[in-house]
Amino acid sequence: MCKFHNTENGIGAHVALDSFRLPKTVVPTDYVIKLFPNPTGKSGRFRGEETIAVTVKEATDVVSLNVCDISIQKVRITRGGKSIVGKVSINKETEVATITFPRQIAAGDWKLHLSFTGSHNQGLRGFYKSTWEDEAGKTHTIVTTQHEATEARKTFPCFDEPNFKATFKVSLVVDKHLVALSNGRRLKETPVSRRRKLVEFARTPKMSTYLTCFIVGEFESSEPAFVNGKEIRIWCVPGKKHMTSWALKCAVRGIEWFEEYFGVPYFGGDKIDHVAIPDFEAGAMENTGCVTYREEALLCDEATAAHDELEGIAVTVLHETSHFWFGDLVTMDWWNGLWLNESFATFMENLCLAMWKPEWKIWDGFGGTRAAALRIDGLKSTHPIEMPVNHPDEVDELFDAISYNKGGSVLDMIHQYIGFETFREGIRIYLKRHGLSNTQTGDLWDALEEACRLSGSNVPVRRIMDAWVFTPGHPVVSVERGEKPGTIKVTQQQFQFLNEEPSTALWPIPLIIKTRTASGDIVKQTVLFDTADATIDVGEGFQWVKLNAGGSGVHRVRYSSELALALTANVQENLSVIERFNLVNDAWAGVRAGLSTSIDFLELVPRFAGETDPTVFGIILGGLGAMHRLLPEEKRQPLKDIIRAFARPTFDQLGWTPVAGESVQTTQLRASLFSTLGTTCEDPEVRARAEELFAAWQKDRASVDPNLVSVFVGILAYFGDQARYEEFKQLFKTARTPSDSNTFLFSLYGFRSLELLKLTLDFSFSDEVSVQNSPYLFAGLLGNKYSQEFAWNYLRDNWEKVKSAFPTNMVPAIARACGSLDTPDRAAEVRQFFSTHEVKAGAMAVAQMLEQLSIAVRLRENETNRLLDYLAKR
Ligand SMILES: [Zn+2]
Repeated sequence: MCKFHNTENGIGAHVALDSFRLPKTVVPTDYVIKLFPNPTGKSGRFRGEETIAVTVKEATDVVSLNVCDISIQKVRITRGGKSIVGKVSINKETEVATITFPRQIAAGDWKLHLSFTGSHNQGLRGFYKSTWEDEAGKTHTIVTTQHEATEARKTFPCFDEPNFKATFKVSLVVDKHLVALSNGRRLKETPVSRRRKLVEFARTPKMSTYLTCFIVGEFESSEPAFVNGKEIRIWCVPGKKHMTSWALKCAVRGIEWFEEYFGVPYFGGDKIDHVAIPDFEAGAMENTGCVTYREEALLCDEATAAHDELEGIAVTVLHETSHFWFGDLVTMDWWNGLWLNESFATFMENLCLAMWKPEWKIWDGFGGTRAAALRIDGLKSTHPIEMPVNHPDEVDELFDAISYNKGGSVLDMIHQYIGFETFREGIRIYLKRHGLSNTQTGDLWDALEEACRLSGSNVPVRRIMDAWVFTPGHPVVSVERGEKPGTIKVTQQQFQFLNEEPSTALWPIPLIIKTRTASGDIVKQTVLFDTADATIDVGEGFQWVKLNAGGSGVHRVRYSSELALALTANVQENLSVIERFNLVNDAWAGVRAGLSTSIDFLELVPRFAGETDPTVFGIILGGLGAMHRLLPEEKRQPLKDIIRAFARPTFDQLGWTPVAGESVQTTQLRASLFSTLGTTCEDPEVRARAEELFAAWQKDRASVDPNLVSVFVGILAYFGDQARYEEFKQLFKTARTPSDSNTFLFSLYGFRSLELLKLTLDFSFSDEVSVQNSPYLFAGLLGNKYSQEFAWNYLRDNWEKVKSAFPTNMVPAIARACGSLDTPDRAAEVRQFFSTHEVKAGAMAVAQMLEQLSIAVRLRENETNRLLDYLAKR
């Protein structure tokens, strides 16, 4: 899909798309920026001065750069003794400031001097305000930046496109008691008045504006760690330093591992700060030398943290660290290449973590990442991994499951196909060739292809990857026995949940086939399958055949009933974890696509008896849970019994409490089964146990397995009354860790009493919930069936209030949550509503939500009675 804005979504069709781009006639090489941040001032205004060294390529009397919500007071351009004053006009729509000079500026090097003012907003972008409360209840304010994608222009006038790389020499004038951080090392601090000091930072290497970072506030840091001459620290607001140890280990590991893997040292200077910010929109941001995070993505009490916290922090820190090379050192030429930054970091965080912590079985968990991509990618409203981008709003829309998860999955697929060594060699060629500059996506494929040639394999990487990157959607490969003995026949076509307009697209699929031969041997072969159908020899008398062996293929598989029966006769022996996960995931997708029924899925489940992997269990329970929600409450018991009969024996084997030395997977599985048995199955014994654990936890937090905290909180909320509600709200307010804070906050949408859920709705608009979380709290109410009607009516009747209460960029998340309003009448209302109400930077989110809604409504209509009949007959 090539998405262009039109008048319908607010951007005038008269604005030529290229008017959002700056001309290339004047190019910046260095910025000297001095800012006077103003965290506590009432006006919220700050001022700044900057000198931009520019190269004028051809004589001109106009210089254009980007600004947004900035006023420029003075501008002049100088060279030698010459100084020419310019006049500024700003186009708010294109965010371009045009500076006109009374005479021609000759080609050559000049200096552009600007003084300006901007404002510290509260929308989590640009140079924004973030607040936190200390233990005495006093509020403190930080000012901090978020500049990706096109927000640096809110902080200082700049050439705000990724390929205008330059160096940055920053200084900040701040109150004496505050800490100031930026990309470069703090060189010196000089008093400038009784109250204020000037903090000067080292000049950065050449980089893009979206990677600049300025932070001012009260902070404390971990002790430093040193890796190959770089000083690494974790920063947080005062009182949280004891929660920095795990992140520091991850940050150290990341630099060590990536420097070795990439064969190129970190380019950004001799210090790296990782900073936890109390209010933060995304998970984290890879500003060179000064990475910013949500608190929960960086801080935890290592001794008492749940596995998910540790893994979440590790994944985030490694993701951002890999961006130092992919994104910061080598940068996309324009935002259409954003996906490569993100998919590469997604892939690399997993590669690094899997080698660091093999016992965590990271690649098994990656099945969930790929599955999330395919769920979106099976919609007609999906988009190609790489697509044209013009307006800044379109960039925002690209931070989605396709850019991160599908892109990462496609890289994993080619990595598996060409192998670890060849892939790494290609990446090294790419980084050496393009360091400190900008690239097109194809440059990477060329480097990988070159590495393939060097290794003698001649894989046509560019041809394969171009097809995957520029074709929206993904294929399903159907397989049946071939006519000739010992063969299988495979066909491919696009997989779509609503298969209304079948496409003829074909993908070059590196198809990995595992066969059990007549003699019982396991044989693997790889075929580049790029035609509509093919017959493949797998050996006469074969016992079973598995497609997408190893599970890294970005496609689904449908077996003929005969082949499916043979393969699933013994799934535990025949299939690896990820292969079992994919098999179930494809089966459930088949139900949602109307290709098979919920009964088919129910009958598949017993074949997984004895399953012990949490990811496989999770995907099975996900399908069963979705069926459970299709049934009227009073008719759910037979299905509850089926789910309980499947889950409880395994749970009993695991036991209630962890055994010393048990695997991470066992711990995770216990938590997942505990949760399902406690809520979906309403198992009274499990519920009683949740009460006991909570009581024990309140007396001594260390006495309870941390992996079970969010589970028993979820169960107690599900059965909770007003007293419990108030108790959890209080525990949110007094939480000692970011994780506990989130657990108790988001438990408030998990109750069932509408009266309590109405309180949660009010709470989501109060000052007590930070804006980084409030949209998700509200969205949670749309997902809970006990509050969704109320929350929907509220949203419909108070749309303007909702839009202004939450940061603009988080409103699409609320629109997405409307995808659970899946009764025909409600769905029609939602459809009607969004046809006349715009979601800024959310056109794609809305289109995808509406399509998900159609799929959910169809599933409900097709499967509810079928399921009821089936259950009645059992
Ligand atoms: Zn990223």
